[in-house]
Amino acid sequence: MLRLENVNKTFGGNLALKDITTTFENNQTTVLVGPSGSGKSTMLRSLNLLEMPESGKYYFDDLELDFKKGISKKEILEVRRETEMVFQNYNLFPHLTVLKNIIEGPVHVLKEDKESATKRAYELLKKVGLADKADAYPQQLSGGQAQRVAIARSLAMNPRYILLDEPTSALDPELELEVLKVLLQLAKEKQSLIIVTHNLAFAQKVADKILFVEDGQILFQGPKDDFFNSDNQRIKNFLSAMT
Ligand code: ADP
Ligand code: MG
Repeated sequence: MLRLENVNKTFGGNLALKDITTTFENNQTTVLVGPSGSGKSTMLRSLNLLEMPESGKYYFDDLELDFKKGISKKEILEVRRETEMVFQNYNLFPHLTVLKNIIEGPVHVLKEDKESATKRAYELLKKVGLADKADAYPQQLSGGQAQRVAIARSLAMNPRYILLDEPTSALDPELELEVLKVLLQLAKEKQSLIIVTHNLAFAQKVADKILFVEDGQILFQGPKDDFFNSDNQRIKNFLSAMT
């Protein structure tokens, strides 16, 4: 269980997150939607402690952190180990092969032996449909392939949560589809996912829970069916503007 409680984050005097309280359950997929600039990325980055809110609490299972008191390096590493971030632009190491990109973290951070990390990497590549790309370099991949490698790399770290910030927004539709398929499969396998996306059709398919963020606040949180069938005028406006 991952939980934010009364979290506030400002940038230059502007509140980007206003008193955010929400829980991300294990083995569920939560999708964050909302207009541009509403605070979705800031919330996701706060969950990974890439952003440090000024106040509020952060809970991870028994770990309780207070942003006001400050968070130690050790606690940051502990949180990051359980929350792997997948970025819009993949962030693969350009000078390493696909295989080496995937085993880098397990071998150097988790201290797994190279042989078992390699074996696992091949399994993960198979899972994302790229078993034949182990020896390719990132620049030889399409955007869709690169993003699937990034997902495999995050899975290799065995995190509790994978956080994805608009994972397909740099991709053409047909390449987007191959990435979305992988995420749908992970959701089906109950990998805990937290996804920011503008693709509402995908959100409707993949989500257990929707968080609708507007102007730094959570306007709605709940089961996806309640969101997509909502009578709330602001939600209805958002949905009709997006489709
Ligand atoms: P979203 O991901 O929903 O588009 P963001 O979380 O990126 O929204 O941004 C929320 C608000 O915080 C916006 O007003 C944005 O301009 C501001 N913001 C985000 N990151 C920074 C930053 N590093 N410096 C200054 N302002 C920022
Ligand atoms: Mg964003």
